[in-house]
Amino acid sequence: MSEEELKEQDFEHQPCPLCNEKTLILTERETEVPYFGKVYLFSMTCSSCKYHNADVEATEQKEPAKYEFEISSEEDMKVRVVKSSEATVKVPHITTITPGPAAQGYVTNIEGLLNRIKYQIETLRDTAEDEEDRKKAKNLLKKILNITWGKEKQKIIIEDPSGNSAIISDKAVKSALKVKAIEK
Ligand SMILES: [Zn+2]
Repeated sequence: MSEEELKEQDFEHQPCPLCNEKTLILTERETEVPYFGKVYLFSMTCSSCKYHNADVEATEQKEPAKYEFEISSEEDMKVRVVKSSEATVKVPHITTITPGPAAQGYVTNIEGLLNRIKYQIETLRDTAEDEEDRKKAKNLLKKILNITWGKEKQKIIIEDPSGNSAIISDKAVKSALKVKAIEK
């Protein structure tokens, strides 16, 4: 990790939202993401039921935003990505990561994001009942490998009504995301 780690705090014996035991450890960490600002990283792990979740939130209030980025080289793997649990990540022709209470938030880079997608598709390849689905998964894995090597271009779109997500690159196109007022 290149960014400076500022603070870390653990809160033990917290009530777990899943099993209600007071065995949840909440970790809060503050970190600086260059060209985005300070963010809080939250992580929750329950030792009783193995519940785990994580999220990221900018310390400053941000506007709803949409980021578009085209991966066109191996160098792009290093581009920083901030993804909150409220973000929709569209990777056309490959997958869409949907937001929600079960979605995780994290700070990563393009490579890290692709690795998470790769892992999901690998699971599908290994567990799919249907031969056709397994074949589809294999083809997608090949495609991802080519993207990782900069042999194939790939668009990535992140939409986040909370504004807590970003793709940190000069090549990334940021625009305002129009959202209906949602009660939190
Ligand atoms: Zn639990």
